[in-house]
Formats: sequence, C-alpha cells, structure tokens
Amino acid sequence: MRLLLVEDEPELGATLARVLERRGFQVAHRQSAAEALASLEHELFDLVVLDLGLPGMDGLQLLQRLRGRGSTLPVLVLTARGGVGDRVAGLNAGADDYLAKPFDPDELEARLRALARRAGLRDDPECGELRLDRGAGAFYWKSQALELTPRESALLAGLMERPGRAVTRARLLGLAFGAEVPAQPEALEVVVHRLRKKLAPTGVQITTLRGLGYLLQPSRGDED
Ligand code: CA
Repeated sequence: MRLLLVEDEPELGATLARVLERRGFQVAHRQSAAEALASLEHELFDLVVLDLGLPGMDGLQLLQRLRGRGSTLPVLVLTARGGVGDRVAGLNAGADDYLAKPFDPDELEARLRALARRAGLRDDPECGELRLDRGAGAFYWKSQALELTPRESALLAGLMERPGRAVTRARLLGLAFGAEVPAQPEALEVVVHRLRKKLAPTGVQITTLRGLGYLLQPSRGDED
C-alpha cells in the first residue's frame, strides 16, 4: 500500500515512516503541503496521513484542495490538540478519520488498515468494458488483462480516476513521467498515441480536449 505521510516535525515524521514501513506500507514522507501537492501530482497513492499543523499552507487547506479537485483518496488527519474543533474541521474538510497526538503506532496502523479496507470496498473504476483492478493494479477488458508499460498504466490510471471528465495535460505528464520533465515536447502525445492503439479493441477511447487535456470515455457503440 502506497502511503503519503505529510508531517513537518522531522523526527516524528521519520519515526512514523520507519514504523509504517516495517509494517508493510510503502511510505513517501513530505514535510510541507507544497511538497505533498507536488507528489500528489506525480504519484499515485492509496492512503494519506496528514498532519493538520503545517507551516505555510496547513493540512486543512491541503485537504480542501484535494477534495476540491474531486479526489476521493482516503485521508487520516493527525491533530495536535485533539480538540473537538480541529476534528470537526478536519472531518468537514473531507477527512475520513482522525487521530489525536500523541498516539500509539498500533492504533495508527489499525485505523489505516480499516480505512484501506473501506476504500477497497469501493467499486473498481470502470469505463465501458474497461476496468481497473485496484488490488492487482492491472487493467482488464472483459476478462483479458491489457499489456501496458508503466507509463501507459500510470496515464490510464489517471484518466480512470475520473472517466468522462477532463484530466489536465500537466497531471498526466506528472503521472507518466514523474518529476523529470521529458525533453521532448511531444512525449505525452507519444504515450497517448500508443495507449490509444492498445485501447482500440476495448471500445474505450481517449479524447483530446484542446487546451484542457484528455478524457476517457466509451466510444459510441456500433450502429444498430
Ligand atoms: Ca505539525
């Protein structure tokens, strides 16, 4: 499970990352909301642990941004004070759970596993006859797995997050290439082109929205 940990206290963050890694999570530790936002652009995560008290943009604002752009990523917030106001604000901003500091790592782990279980109960994303099996991390057309490169997979996963709605070029570039911006200006188009070919038999197509990005949608069915 890929987990994004946003915690500005270096020692606490490093300790948490170590504990969670020992327990089988793959942890990316970021110390500010800005760094966390950049990672969310470039990587796919299954869970977020978010400290509310961060310098600059705080955790609540980060959470609002995330939900504002339609992300349903499960988020557990860490509140320093454990005050009712903090918890209510966190939940109102779209947190799925909260934990007051100081806490026992066992409890954090138990809460995260519960969150992941609940998230796993969500339906796998689908578009037409194309389905992303979250557990396996693979795309299926009917019962057939698509053979995709890691870049193609990352790009398709980004489009599957919101079928029928535009996903920006910047977001897709980030997902496919990470932080390293490809030298070729047409690099993204090349991946899209190859992906389109592989999707051709599935009846799902990638539509270019000039100036906006791309969207994934079922192509029109055969004429009756
Ligand atoms: Ca803090």
